[in-house]
Amino acid sequence: MPDLDTIVNLCKRRGFVFQSSEIYGGFGGFWDYGPLGVELKKNIKDAWWRANVQEREDMVGLDGSIIMSPRIWEASEHVSTFTDPLVDCKQCRRRSRTDELVNGRCPYCGGEVTEERRFQLMFKTFVGPVEEDAAVAYLRPETAQAIFVNFKNVQATSRKKLPFGIAQVGKGFRNEITPGKFIFRDREFDMMEIEYFVKPNEWEAAFERWVQDRLDWYVRFGIKREHLSVYEYPPEELAHYSRRTVDIEYEFPFGRSELEGIAYRTDFDLSRHQAASGEDLTYFDDETNERYLPHVVEPAAGVDRSLLAFLIDAYDEEEVRGEKRTVLRLHRALAPYKVAVLPLSRNERLTPLAREVAAALRPHWMITYDDSQAIGRRYRRQDEIGTPFCVTIDFDSLEDKKATIRDRDSMEQERVPIAELVPVLQEKLK
Ligand code: ATP
Repeated sequence: MPDLDTIVNLCKRRGFVFQSSEIYGGFGGFWDYGPLGVELKKNIKDAWWRANVQEREDMVGLDGSIIMSPRIWEASEHVSTFTDPLVDCKQCRRRSRTDELVNGRCPYCGGEVTEERRFQLMFKTFVGPVEEDAAVAYLRPETAQAIFVNFKNVQATSRKKLPFGIAQVGKGFRNEITPGKFIFRDREFDMMEIEYFVKPNEWEAAFERWVQDRLDWYVRFGIKREHLSVYEYPPEELAHYSRRTVDIEYEFPFGRSELEGIAYRTDFDLSRHQAASGEDLTYFDDETNERYLPHVVEPAAGVDRSLLAFLIDAYDEEEVRGEKRTVLRLHRALAPYKVAVLPLSRNERLTPLAREVAAALRPHWMITYDDSQAIGRRYRRQDEIGTPFCVTIDFDSLEDKKATIRDRDSMEQERVPIAELVPVLQEKLK
């Protein structure tokens, strides 16, 4: 497994992830995704959306607003309880979460620390022209609440019957006290969340299924099963709204850490919103002629953490003819570019045909065109960013109308008629 620095360097060098506001010295806990990162991130979200919404009969989607009525965060108890305990070091003045202390002392300098205080993790802003208390609103720290407050709208318009779920992908914001470990803990991040509504006595089976489905999803897109584990929360660690929670954890280079949380939230959120808004949020069960609040199983995953895990798991180094080859063995569906079109050299006879091939492939896939260096170096470059196939145009191509397809993983090369490139690649990329 690569160390974190190797991945951070690769991300910067190749344009996956940059420090936010870099030319101003950076801005802690915020990151920018470059040309390759934005593709990888989009592909992860798409793969998640396909598997969890489009391939399932019992799921629908939602895209709620980031800023919502502050009453929502009061009802959900985020205003009162979405806090971290924090202390300040009396010596070096740095701030830590209480759980980061070493023998009750500052983890940075060993200094004595202040009394513990609760620190609100939600970012505040003002809505409207006047900056007064009545105008305070919050940037959402999770996407879940938009789903709960829309439960009635979605159920009525989609006419789904229990059990069914609502999925949402979008930004979340948390004013983390100690962001870090690259994109693992950020102050702005993307989440992929599902609220799965069930009959109250059917939550356990749904919970088990989701744990399995979510593990399978990570494995399907390239994470080795042995790098994943399931952590069961003991009762004293459960959040106030949860009666059972597990984390899907990944073996990060800095230790085993949470990739996704799966929580049984009971009917906590719906009942709180029902009480606070005065709206009836019950579901009418026409099989039993009963009205009740559904219970909820929530699989909540982080896009940035998944992206980091997919990169780490795909990273490989091997020796090829005495030289080190770095290769990102990303799943085809996640790879930023599916195909690179490479003329053997920047030659006026090769360029028109290579450009023509690129134009023929571009409507089908995200491709790249590169004629910048020696061909061997360009293969290495594509290997390092995970491009599954390279298509090379050489001088023979001008005569026999064939191109060479090179496979990233096996490095095998195959000569294929240019007219058949699309169907052949379609088969390989399936
Ligand atoms: P942690 O214990 O690491 O702070 P959490 O238990 O508070 O995370 P959840 O509220 O369960 O996290 O959020 C669901 C998912 O969102 C997490 O599993 C993680 O992938 C992602 N996530 C949460 N906080 C952050 C963050 N600060 N930066 C990046 N991703 C995050």
